[in-house]
Amino acid sequence: MPKKICYARGCNELISMKQTYCDKHKKIHEEEKRLSNYIYDLTIRDKNSTSFYHSDEWLLTRADIKAKDKGLCVLCLSNKAITFMELVHHITELKENWELRCEPRNLISLCNSCHNEVHAEYKRSNKHKEDMQHKLKSLIKDR
Ligand SMILES: [Zn+2]
Ligand SMILES: [Zn+2]
Ligand SMILES: [Zn+2]
Repeated sequence: MPKKICYARGCNELISMKQTYCDKHKKIHEEEKRLSNYIYDLTIRDKNSTSFYHSDEWLLTRADIKAKDKGLCVLCLSNKAITFMELVHHITELKENWELRCEPRNLISLCNSCHNEVHAEYKRSNKHKEDMQHKLKSLIKDR
């Protein structure tokens, strides 16, 4: 069977004609691909969301949600505390579903401290995240 040399520079491993890399370099190549996808996500996609946060579309939606929630943190209110809202949070995150970026049923007014707690739950596990998303959605179901 004809053989060729691994595509990686400096590697003399013989591989079959169908392969591009030897096993070792195939792993390295895949790891590099994963890494560049990850960097793509961090830079390109985040640029996308950064410009979104400055768009008229978002600023108008944000003002609308703030008015709907009467300028208060909905989570604090559910604990019978009155706290001014500081931001509008995406229950399903932008990176998860771009289509829901201005959907009122996906947006909730929060204070900074509640917002930090919400994101801490999101990070704990998928289960904690789903529970928190469910709770937040139930708090705004009337609008
Ligand atoms: Zn190799
Ligand atoms: Zn709060
Ligand atoms: Zn958030």
